[in-house]
Amino acid sequence: MTMDRSQGRVQRPANDAAPVATASGHRGLVLEEALIFEQGQVGRTGVDLPEPTAMLSRLGGLDRQGAIGLPGLAEPQVVRHFTRLSQKNYGIDSGFFPLGSCTMKHNPRLNEKMARLPGFGDIHPLQPESTVQGALALIHELAHWLTTLTGMPAVALSPAAGAHGEFCGMAAIRAALAARGDVRRRVLVPESAHGTNPATAAALGYEVDPIPATARGRVDLAAFKAKLGSDVAATMITNPNTCGLFEDEIQEIAHLIHGAGGFFYCDGANFNAIVGRVRPADLGVDAMHINLHKTFSTPHGGGGPGSGPVVLSADLAPYAPLPMVVLEGDRYRVVETADGSAAATFGRLKAFHGQMGMFVRALAYMKSHGADGLRQVATDAVLNANYVLARLKGRLTASFDGPTMHEALFDDRFLKDTGVSTLDFAKALIDEGFHPMTMYFPLVVHGAMLIEPTETESKEAIDQFCDTVLSLAERAASEADAFHASPRLTPRRRLDETQAARKPTLRWTPPALPAAAE
Ligand SMILES: *Cc1c(COP(=O)(O)O)cnc(C)c1O
Repeated sequence: MTMDRSQGRVQRPANDAAPVATASGHRGLVLEEALIFEQGQVGRTGVDLPEPTAMLSRLGGLDRQGAIGLPGLAEPQVVRHFTRLSQKNYGIDSGFFPLGSCTMKHNPRLNEKMARLPGFGDIHPLQPESTVQGALALIHELAHWLTTLTGMPAVALSPAAGAHGEFCGMAAIRAALAARGDVRRRVLVPESAHGTNPATAAALGYEVDPIPATARGRVDLAAFKAKLGSDVAATMITNPNTCGLFEDEIQEIAHLIHGAGGFFYCDGANFNAIVGRVRPADLGVDAMHINLHKTFSTPHGGGGPGSGPVVLSADLAPYAPLPMVVLEGDRYRVVETADGSAAATFGRLKAFHGQMGMFVRALAYMKSHGADGLRQVATDAVLNANYVLARLKGRLTASFDGPTMHEALFDDRFLKDTGVSTLDFAKALIDEGFHPMTMYFPLVVHGAMLIEPTETESKEAIDQFCDTVLSLAERAASEADAFHASPRLTPRRRLDETQAARKPTLRWTPPALPAAAE
């Protein structure tokens, strides 16, 4: 297959027919892989250990009677099994990953090296403080970068992901309201919000009151004003929002919610679009989580855990969760109990300090970029998204006019009358070697396709993706059947995704053993 850049079109060989069936079930060098239990044989083993001698059983008669049921395999079988599984995993190291809202950027290898330093990688959270002063210093320094970049006075580091951070920030807001004897009932959440926002508000016992979007893809200020009242605890607003647009009336919104006695929770998952350029404190934010695994490049999804620190205003800081790292003289101390300066804490979210490995990676990312480099990150992320928008909007239908921030939103109007849906389009992209964009989110436009290239993709990579998307858009009308059958080249074709999500089969059931001969 050749790519004709000048035409922006992919030229396909004439014999690009339906995939062939193979005798083995393998295709190319992509191998079908049975479960390890199905490969195991009773009695086969990869080790040869001497029989233990004179071992006294201390199980008091509780020894297992039946077989343990673990698969028996030789070492090469085990190595192949896990290597093959690892090759089935598509990740940011394999190719372009344009999932809007997820910020799938490159994870610099320097960060990995730092996280593996024994002083960070081999320590235990229950070690005496005196033996982990360096690690505590790193946590303290990360806190300094986060509060400086956001302009906020305090940060709680223990939340384990964005959604957990939302829970932390909203729990601090609830505690602050309770402390002033002000029980409030409602939380205002825009219709374009990430699903975690209403879920967080509901998990804390609040009633979620949706705010519609305007034709410009922003919060409808008139509707917001109409919904305000003395029973509104907070509003949760994402900025830049999930349409990839900056909420340009955000200061007015902050002013209004404060005037009504409520708090402004900002979902900061999209901070990568404004880091180094906008300080959330200047917008009137009271609490905001930051996804270290998005903005600050720590691996996520299949690659690692999230980390969702929450910056807090001075009013909310006293309610922050334990533990906290404080500097006393030249020693770092971990505050573990609800007394002294931490007397008002709302409690504890997590056993220990948070995702230490992600703290190391995020700080390595910050320090290797420097303040000017972080500002450049936002600039380039926005530039790349606008390049995607500019290249595609003539053929696809952009949902809103004007430039975008870090991601470009399209809807399915361009597929009207083709018989091809957003889902078909995304599946066809898989055959072309691209992970699909985010589909059907945000909900405020029909058949959404949300594309986030991030700043770490080269112009060549983005061009290749855009060429492919444009070629698919051109073929949609005439090749609808092929789209419906996509993906055609993957080991598995269309899956019943609803069934897979609702009723996952997570357990292997051994086949019934043949009845033993008497
Ligand atoms: C990713 C994201 C979240 C949730 O973060 P997790 O780390 O996945 O829990 C919340 N809001 C927005 C806008 C996001 O993009």
